[in-house]
Formats: sequence, C-alpha cells, structure tokens
Amino acid sequence: MDLEYQRQELLAEDLCNHCLGRQFAQLGSGLENYERGYLLRNINDLSQESFKRDNLAGNLSVGGECYLCQGLFNELNKYTKLMIDRLEEYQFNTILVGTRPPESVKKKEKELWEDYGKQYAEPLKTEFNRLLAKRIMRRLNVDSDLERPDIQAVVDIPSDEVELYLSSVLVYGQYNKYVRDISQTIWNYSENSVQQVLQTPFLNEFDAVETKFHGAGREDLNVRCFAKREFILELMEPKRRTVDLEKLTTVVNQSQDQVEIFNLKFVTPDKKEVIKNRKADKTYKAIVHIDDDLSANDVLELEKLKGLVEQETPSRVLKNRGDRLRKREIYQVLAEVITSHKIELIIKTEAGAYIKELISGDNGRTQPSVAELLDCQAECERLDVISIDN
Ligand SMILES: [Zn+2]
Repeated sequence: MDLEYQRQELLAEDLCNHCLGRQFAQLGSGLENYERGYLLRNINDLSQESFKRDNLAGNLSVGGECYLCQGLFNELNKYTKLMIDRLEEYQFNTILVGTRPPESVKKKEKELWEDYGKQYAEPLKTEFNRLLAKRIMRRLNVDSDLERPDIQAVVDIPSDEVELYLSSVLVYGQYNKYVRDISQTIWNYSENSVQQVLQTPFLNEFDAVETKFHGAGREDLNVRCFAKREFILELMEPKRRTVDLEKLTTVVNQSQDQVEIFNLKFVTPDKKEVIKNRKADKTYKAIVHIDDDLSANDVLELEKLKGLVEQETPSRVLKNRGDRLRKREIYQVLAEVITSHKIELIIKTEAGAYIKELISGDNGRTQPSVAELLDCQAECERLDVISIDN
C-alpha cells in the first residue's frame, strides 16, 4: 500500500499520536511513536529524512487517548508505580518488563491491521513495554536483559496484577563430608544430607524458596569425603542476590561439624553441566573385611587389580539404572594388612569406578575384584574419598 494513501486512511481513523505513530514505527529512528504521530499530522514529505527531532514541536509529551489504546498511555505512571511497589522487596540488577494488554485492545489492533496492513507497524504491547521499562530502569537504576534477567515482571492490564518470575542464583563451592550416614542430596527429610546442612543458611541469606543441589559425581550415604568435591547450590526464587559468600562460608562451617565448604563463588547456569560432566580421577581409602585368615603374601595378589576392570551395573542400583558394562582403569592399589581379617586399601581410579563392587565382586558382576583375587568373601566396611583430581 502506498505510504501517503495509508497515512490519509489512518488520519481518518482518529487515532492518538501514539497509535498513529506506531503504525509507522519503521519510519525514522531515535523517535518515539507519539513523536512520529505528531510528524505524520504536520509534515508533507514522508521520506525517512523528515522523521527527525528537528521537525518536532517543543512541548510534545507522552499520553493521548483514542478508541484503539483506550487511554493506556496516560496510565504509564500508574503502571510504573504498580511495578515498582511490587518489586520493592526484591534485589536485582537486570529486568525484563512485559505487558499483557486488554483483550479489547488486541482485538481492535488486529482489526486495524486487517484493514490497513502492518507493514510499518509495531504492536501496542511492544511500545507500552518499552516506555514502561524505560521508566522502571531509570527509577530503580537497573539494566535490561533479554536473555536471563534477574527478574521478569509482567503486568496484566485488565487486572492490574504484576507477575514476577525470578531467575535462580547459582553458587559454586567444594565440600568435605566428615561423617557417615549423610547423603549428598535431600530425598527424604528424616535423613540428613549435604544439601540439607547447607540449605538452611543459604535460604536465609538469599531469602529463597528452595534449593537444588548439583554435585560433581554421586556419593553414597556412608562414604566420607576429604577431597573437596565440587558442587553448585542453586537458589530458587531468591529475594536477595548480593550475599557475602565468605561470611556465608563461615556461618555454614561454624554451625555444624559434619560438612565443611570451601571456595564459594557465583557462577552462570552453564556451569551446572560442566560440573556434572567432570570426569575426575579419584583416590579412595577402603577398610575391607575378609572372611578368611590373611597372610602378608595374600595382599601381594591385590596388585593384579591394577589395569582395566570390567563392571556391570552394581546389583544394588540396578532397579534405578540401566544394566550395562563399564570398563574403568585402576591406576594404583596399595594394600596393608591391619588384622588377620582386615586390610586397608588405597585405590586410585578413573572417574566412574564402583569401589564397593571392586572389593566384593558383586557376584562376578565386577572382574577382577578383591574377593576374586583372594578367593574369599570381601566386603567394604568403610570408604573415604581422599582426593579428587579435577
Ligand atoms: Zn491511542
């Protein structure tokens, strides 16, 4: 459609400056739609050069009313205040502002576009969002972020409700676990876990709703860890984002003596995958019970554990995980007889080896094993992770 013809048609529609200008939002740059609307009424030449600030009158301001917008742009201050009030108790640096215009406005806009086309137009919602966001960002001194804002705030115009969507905060750290019978993540509340120990002080500081725990490798309930295992604690729907992590470390470490944390820092969400996929060699210390009398020579046999070990999925986890065969490298085995029925093993392995099965043999599902090499029953009594090579 010819631009001049379109202008004449739309002038006859009796739109306010916002709504008129918005139908020609592609013309000129650095102008707001109400300024464009003014120019469309007051200039003859519709070339791009006409749409510049020099041609504007001095006293133009936001606002106006017509059948299309129903006076929405007169209410910008009201909605700015509504949003700011709603955001008051939240701490954030970036925001994305959204608007849900009334159905009646959307319907009229659609009808207008059906009649005159929308080749140069911008939706009302986009204009309103922009003007509203500008005011909020200026007042609160925050930036916009389209990708991952700290807060997304959406105002529903007919109901005047403001919905907030809060991005999580992710804190990286490392932990040691000095006691047994404490699992890594919460899965029932009668049992203690690393996540549970950390979560209370974290939830308090960040004023968050809940946490998600992402650990670098799983760790059994009864395994201690002295190797600074990496983790990310994700705080969901936090009201605060600026927290002194050094102070938080002290609070966690002084509140109990089961878990100690180190090296906290804020990280981006992509680090969750990095941590989960980290393949780190590990060194374990195992106390093994043997049901036979041991001789010093017996333990020399255990040297043969070195090299590739083949492990089918342990029978203790079979109901949760698929049955498959893994081959893992055992780099080092040091064995020391403690009593006639006990040995201490120091085992260095590739990531992902199952140590308890390396000892018991799991009815032949792991080969070789301590039990197989000593030709007796062998059981891991205690297990500690003593180093993780990241
Ligand atoms: Zn209007």
